[in-house]
Amino acid sequence: MTDKLTKELLSDAFGYGFKVILEDKFSSPYTPAAVNPFNKTIILNSNWHNKRQLPFQLAHEMGHLLNNDGQSSCLYFSPSKYGIEGNANRTAIELLLPFYLENKEIEHVSSVKFRESLGMDQYLEDMVQEEMIKYYQSFY
Ligand SMILES: [Zn+2]
Repeated sequence: MTDKLTKELLSDAFGYGFKVILEDKFSSPYTPAAVNPFNKTIILNSNWHNKRQLPFQLAHEMGHLLNNDGQSSCLYFSPSKYGIEGNANRTAIELLLPFYLENKEIEHVSSVKFRESLGMDQYLEDMVQEEMIKYYQSFY
């Protein structure tokens, strides 16, 4: 599911006018994604050690651009609950959730399965649940 998700997210990113480089020449599978807000370019390490996490990394970096973070410096993927990193995570979840929730019966929805399928850590659980509630509230 992550390849299809990555493609759909990439087309969203292009729609926003962002550039995305899938770089396969990093020597380390631990070189994190980065974003340059100045030229709105996101660089993903396509050899990242945890492949299923790539859509979340892409969405997180898109979150920084959508939130207008760090107008002059490069931001590296560094998950956190707080500050601009926390806000980028929240925006990432907002971007990713519709792909997971669309056409899914509500009794089959699981915040844990959503997180785990995308390699997202436990500390994001509360945020995922909050955003799921917001998603459903937006229809009423
Ligand atoms: Zn970040």
